[in-house]
Amino acid sequence: MENVRNVEKLFGDDYGILTFTGENIRRRLSPAALRRLDQTTQYNEPLDEAIADEVAAAMKDWATENGCTHYCHWFQPLTGATAEKHDSFLNMDGEGGVIAEFSGEMLIRSEPDASSFPTGSIRDTWEARGYTAWDPTSPAFIAINGSERTLCIPTAFVSWTGESLDQKTPLLRSIDSLSKQAMRILRVFGTDKGVHRVQTTLGCEQEYFLLDEEDYQMRPDLRMCGRTLIGADAPKGHQLDDHYFGSIPAKVQAYMADVEARLYALGIPAKTRHNEVAPHQFELAPLFEGTNLACDHQMQTMSVLRRTAREHGMVCLLHEKPFAGVNGSGKHNNWSLVTDTGHNLLNPNDGGAGHLQFLSFVCAVVRGLDMHADLLRATVASAGNDHRLGANEAPPAILSIYMGAELERVLEHLEAGETSEFEHSTTLDLGTTAMPKLERHPGDRNRTSPFAFIGNRFEFRAVGSTAVPAWPNAVLNTIVAESLDHIADKLEASLTEDMSDEERSAAIVGVLRDVYKTHKRVVFNGDNYSDAWHAEAEKRGLPNLRGCADALPALGSDKARKLFSDYEVLGEAELDARLMVLFETYVNIMEIEARTLIRMIHTMVIPAAVRHQSELAGAIAATDAAGVDPESVRGRLTDLTGLITGLEVACHELESKLASLDGEAEAQARMIQDVLVPAMEKVRSSSDKIEGVVPDDLWPLPTYLDLLF
Ligand code: ADP
Ligand code: MG
Repeated sequence: MENVRNVEKLFGDDYGILTFTGENIRRRLSPAALRRLDQTTQYNEPLDEAIADEVAAAMKDWATENGCTHYCHWFQPLTGATAEKHDSFLNMDGEGGVIAEFSGEMLIRSEPDASSFPTGSIRDTWEARGYTAWDPTSPAFIAINGSERTLCIPTAFVSWTGESLDQKTPLLRSIDSLSKQAMRILRVFGTDKGVHRVQTTLGCEQEYFLLDEEDYQMRPDLRMCGRTLIGADAPKGHQLDDHYFGSIPAKVQAYMADVEARLYALGIPAKTRHNEVAPHQFELAPLFEGTNLACDHQMQTMSVLRRTAREHGMVCLLHEKPFAGVNGSGKHNNWSLVTDTGHNLLNPNDGGAGHLQFLSFVCAVVRGLDMHADLLRATVASAGNDHRLGANEAPPAILSIYMGAELERVLEHLEAGETSEFEHSTTLDLGTTAMPKLERHPGDRNRTSPFAFIGNRFEFRAVGSTAVPAWPNAVLNTIVAESLDHIADKLEASLTEDMSDEERSAAIVGVLRDVYKTHKRVVFNGDNYSDAWHAEAEKRGLPNLRGCADALPALGSDKARKLFSDYEVLGEAELDARLMVLFETYVNIMEIEARTLIRMIHTMVIPAAVRHQSELAGAIAATDAAGVDPESVRGRLTDLTGLITGLEVACHELESKLASLDGEAEAQARMIQDVLVPAMEKVRSSSDKIEGVVPDDLWPLPTYLDLLF
């Protein structure tokens, strides 16, 4: 709430006008209902259902005054998108007329058809029942789509049998678990006074590409798959680094301003915008918020980015790798822990808790990552992200932590059984008198690490740009909760009432040192792109899970089952279901990609190549008839004919691999990664060679040059 009030000051009166928060609520609820609702939204106390009717009526009045005729329970099924089932407020009044009605019951619960969403076999098609349940901690909002306005109520989605079928439920459970364990650490250090809860914070840096709508419409691969499946490199990539942080084109700036205005109205605090590394690539980052809210806001942000682009004659591509050979897109996941009294537990200088408390949290992250690097890797596995993580691109699939020079020094001292103070920032002298002195952070940045400490938070950089952030965050919270539990056990066991301060300190250092020593193999402060690191990581026994087929099975391990059930985040059936959905999604996406590619080769690439072939043949005959030796044209024809044959062979190979896919989704995923993907790459490289020799006026697709420059 504090956050929202400050942001209102920054962004003006329109901030949050489309959300059921602040004045929109205060003006409409009785003081008693308001107080009880606050207990739930601020302190996570159970909702008092007695106020539901009053809240529902107020929400309906607010929504209808703002042009809504319908409401929906808005949720995040396992599809990777959001879902909404719209109902009108209209109801029979029992006297032959209609009234606008919205009851507490309708607010709290709804019943969408569960069998239409992925359930990973929890439900059969004939077992339809599922429920959505209101999440009062995430404000209801009004979604605008053209001239339509709909009241959206954030909800969780569960099966009639009680299993979660969505992304929000495990996230909420993971935050509860983490809070419980973090509170134990605070009690050890005596910093728990007045603190009811610890929660996680999240700021997602969303990268995306913008393309002209016309170009997009001409490419079946972009329309079907969100990425180009073929396309020869343009002569220029990002060698010149002339796009990154460059001045933003006017058309794009107008788009960004429009996106931001819409986000502000939705109470989403967009803050940073800039050009990214690749041509046509941009980034948007909000101010961080509590993770549950930040995740809901992220889903809305992706939707606003997409919708607004269309209205500006552009298309926003959120895919992790729309273009081969240029930078892909990620969603850096900035994550921290904060008390409900506002202290950031990963800030060494916040709240005067002392370094040992801070180091307890850092050590929990180190231990969690070392023990469950495979699980965290699995949470960012997707067909799109395979192009980033497995390839030579930021960051590699090996999960390690970058600490930065300063924290590394402190941790080295810890290993030696000592405590040491943090250095504060120093100043940089630019060498000219008029310029101000620059404050310099105690540590440099490392852009190559998948998981980096940056002063007051960790940045998980392996998350893909299309990702639903609730999932990686639920798992990150869970693995850290487990390690906090472990550290709290050790601390509680080694501390006694009668210890002096020095003895306490020494005992705590002893516990943390053991944890750090045991798990520090996951810490790496060098260049994560280098071959030397890959070799070193292998020596250290760190997993290097390159693609979905390698990465996803970790979620089915006994270790994973135990972790998620011990911390009450996902039961076995829920975990199995999720895993099955993830495999099926990967298989479905890859089949669509393969089919799209085959179709483009048969209906676009080969016909264009054959047209050129016949042009060349005609030119040879005509040249010959004119009494001139057509040798060079003949050479061209021979080369092109060879390329066409090569492409035909590669395409048939791909068709037969696609047809041979069979068995369980997991087995199919393995075949896809090992066999289908290489076959698609072969087709692509043949096609790209042909693109390099067919005349522009015959080529049926906008090229990389057209799309990106
Ligand atoms: P970068 O320099 O890494 O590109 P940006 O300024 O683009 O950084 O984005 C950093 C993100 O980290 C923002 O969304 C910001 O709100 C978020 N952030 C800052 N502090 C925290 C924190 N304590 N917890 C979570 N996220 C944070
Ligand atoms: Mg950034």
